[in-house]
Amino acid sequence: MIGIFGGTFDPVHIGHLRLATEVAETLGLSRVHLVPAAIPPHRGEPLLDPTTRLDLVARSIADEPRFVLDDREHRRVGPSYTADTLAEFAAEFPGEPLVLMMGMDAFNGLPGWHEVERILDLAHIAVATRPGSQAEGKAAEWLAERRVDPAMLAHASADAPVGRIVPVAITRLDISATTLRGFIDQGRSLRYLVPEPVVRHFSRG
Ligand code: ATP
Repeated sequence: MIGIFGGTFDPVHIGHLRLATEVAETLGLSRVHLVPAAIPPHRGEPLLDPTTRLDLVARSIADEPRFVLDDREHRRVGPSYTADTLAEFAAEFPGEPLVLMMGMDAFNGLPGWHEVERILDLAHIAVATRPGSQAEGKAAEWLAERRVDPAMLAHASADAPVGRIVPVAITRLDISATTLRGFIDQGRSLRYLVPEPVVRHFSRG
């Protein structure tokens, strides 16, 4: 089973890296592809340019053998749709179940994503807790219908290879890239909220 974790990572912070680490541990994943979005379909222009966002993720995960930086959305022309990304993974790793990871806030937005039915036909979804977010609306309905416990995912995959939703309780870290961009704007330190390479990037000059 392969984990796929997308985001804007503007910039990457320890909330992202703990999510990837704890979901991988809970589900017993040996590999997680981190996929920075080039042109995020759901939001405005990022603060950091795509090359810097990729580079900071690469340097932040350099010591973690389970994590792979995946720049496929940057190599693609046009908007980065998760459905297309998952289709590429499915073609590259035939027969290998895919698990798309996200925080609860992102999960609540999932029903509005481009080709969401295709997403659920290609992967399971691991939903991590995030302070301030609980399942709502259509996402809460999907969770109730498709929920499977982490320990049962491997069994569930045998009869339903995709489209299961697995809630994963992770360490609650109330950190967002939006808050960090505010800190950057005010000249405040990011130390201990982000990996060292990100601290160094913003303390240069
Ligand atoms: P922004 O504040 O710019 O929206 P963000 O901090 O939410 O950014 P994203 O790159 O948008 O980060 O998020 C990528 C993924 O990481 C999403 O699925 C989001 O839910 C999850 N995530 C981000 N921060 C946390 C956190 N502190 N705890 C749990 N999940 C998180």
